[in-house]
Amino acid sequence: MFFDLAGQKVLIVGGGEVALRKVSLLERTGASINMVAPQIVPELMQRAAAGQLKLAIREFAADDLDGVRLVIVATSRRAVNRWIATLCEARNVPVNVVDDREASRFIVPAIVDRDPVLVAISTGGTSPVLARRLRERLEALIPARIGRLASWLQALREPARQKLRDTDERRRFFETLVDGPAGRRFVEGDSQGAQRIAQQLLAATSTAPRAAGEVTLVGAGPGDPELLTLKALRALQDADVILHDRLVPAAVLEFARRDAVRICVGKAAGNVGSTQQEINALLIENARQGRRVVRLKGGDPFIFGRGGEELQALAAAQINFSVIPGITAALGCAAYAGIPLTHRDHAQSVTFVTAHAQSDGETTLKEPDWRALGLPGATSVFYMGLARLDHIVAKLLEHGAPGIRPAGIISQGTTPDQRVVTAALATIGAAASAAGLQSPALLVVGDVVALQPSLAWFGTGAAAVELCQTA
Ligand code: SAH
Repeated sequence: MFFDLAGQKVLIVGGGEVALRKVSLLERTGASINMVAPQIVPELMQRAAAGQLKLAIREFAADDLDGVRLVIVATSRRAVNRWIATLCEARNVPVNVVDDREASRFIVPAIVDRDPVLVAISTGGTSPVLARRLRERLEALIPARIGRLASWLQALREPARQKLRDTDERRRFFETLVDGPAGRRFVEGDSQGAQRIAQQLLAATSTAPRAAGEVTLVGAGPGDPELLTLKALRALQDADVILHDRLVPAAVLEFARRDAVRICVGKAAGNVGSTQQEINALLIENARQGRRVVRLKGGDPFIFGRGGEELQALAAAQINFSVIPGITAALGCAAYAGIPLTHRDHAQSVTFVTAHAQSDGETTLKEPDWRALGLPGATSVFYMGLARLDHIVAKLLEHGAPGIRPAGIISQGTTPDQRVVTAALATIGAAASAAGLQSPALLVVGDVVALQPSLAWFGTGAAAVELCQTA
């Protein structure tokens, strides 16, 4: 909440250095600042003399709160601070007690001020240091002229409203300005160049036919939202509609625009969701309406994600599309579990296999080459493997893999709930059920799995390494 304090009576109780900082902050709001304190630092005296605030050099009294819109309490006496806070609460006047989150009704955030652009940071009172670090990073990230850019964009709103009839069109116009050369020029100081581009754009947009829709197939990665690519982030922020799988983490969807439509078309194993035909139809229909559609899939869209089939449907319907790859579960999970999928001494090839039932009602898959998957020097990663674990192990053993071949299961990989269980191939099924692993999970079979205990670095599995290092 950003509070308009212009002309409003604000009271600061206290007259020390902390109070001085609050005065400096409040001065920029145009509030009428009142201060009461028995002792006042010289700098505040000077400001009072210059007419920047009204001083009462005495102890606080309850009727100091009359007609006040906001109170900041900054005396050095905690009990006094709390008593004043209670009085404020009784009168419904918002109060902040410096360094006393519990007694405060509102928090004063750390701010990045590029008037009229204001970024406020709060850690909920948990860590002022963290808030300050975040502010420093944002200060470096946000261009100095962003405030002026905001004012310029505001000035363009009226002309845009006259030329561009519908709100989607106007939004696109402003997005092109902000993301494109006009915005860049403005921020770099060439406001005339920016204005020229804006005028051209406005003339062009108002005569152009409605933009054609398109579909971007985006890989959301295996779980950790920070494994998203920069391109995926951009696509999410530009999307009008997002069709996502169940496996896509909520934290990834958070990156989308607030007003983007999100549709879950997920199929969990064993559950009935939208059929592939229904999903294809939704993609085509939304794109035909001129929308920017993102089809968001867990991991990589081309690895057991039916991305290929969806593109075929789009191609047949003559819809524009593009693909943004993602980190597939095998790569993400192996990295976070500490299993190098290839290694000069242990594995020369890696195979990704789907362990899904041979027929899912729509298509029929061929049996994999079980013998090849169990050969020495091969790493095999089985997707969708938990339910079919016993079957996979039996097939590998039957086709010649030794029972002592190292095997591992990574469940909920790259997330805070990641769990890794390793065992000999012959006993991995028993180990998995003893551990009660949850899906989604991957099975990795190959000599490289033996390296896992010494290379684990993420989550609980890493404890062993840390203990070794300190010993
Ligand atoms: N396109 C996805 C795979 C979809 S199939 C990708 O590239 O990753 C879904 C299967 O992926 C799950 O059954 C599971 O085997 C695996 N999987 C996905 N996310 C996972 C995760 N965080 N941890 C372990 N396995 C995962």
